[in-house]
Amino acid sequence: MKVEILREKRKTIVLKIIDEKTAVLKVPLKLSEKKINEFLQSKCLWLEKNVKKIKENNNFSKHFELDKFVYLNGESFMPVQEIAIEFDKLSQAERKRKIKAFYLTMFFKLEELAKDISLKTNLKYSEIKIADSKRIWGSYNSKGQLKLNWKLLILPQELVCYVICHELCHSLHMNHKPQFWASVGQICPNFKALRKELCKFSFVLRSELL
Ligand SMILES: [Zn+2]
Repeated sequence: MKVEILREKRKTIVLKIIDEKTAVLKVPLKLSEKKINEFLQSKCLWLEKNVKKIKENNNFSKHFELDKFVYLNGESFMPVQEIAIEFDKLSQAERKRKIKAFYLTMFFKLEELAKDISLKTNLKYSEIKIADSKRIWGSYNSKGQLKLNWKLLILPQELVCYVICHELCHSLHMNHKPQFWASVGQICPNFKALRKELCKFSFVLRSELL
């Protein structure tokens, strides 16, 4: 692991992991070498643990070839080649457009699931909107609009259910205070594990292929 040390006009020390092999340590201009080494020593376990997590996530994401297959509920569904004739000859932007358009034809699956969960939990929404974001899976606003990222279609269904439950619980609490999490826990008792699992799929959100 390489730790790049940056001396800056700052008061605090910040350690940030960039990838499996690199981290950046930002330190105040006059901090001694000794202090820097002491700090790094104290963060050794933390670094090890988090690099391990990044490695695990990278290995996990390798199972998903988002440029080769369309996925549904966490499993490969069909080769992307089948979405369009001569898919290989399309530009990257055209491919992305075709892949997205195909997923959107299946968006009704998310709508059905949300309707079902809403009926079972009695948590209401006014309408469902398709969201396209590299940052969030869904949202719920004060108008009662439930926005769901179409990339949710790729995820295992239990994670999609968690996201929908999470967003619908915002109909009760428009925040992430303990009462909100208590409501989520009533519907999804294993929500903590599901949240962790969901993190593993952040590569889907951020993927340049989608
Ligand atoms: Zn939330």
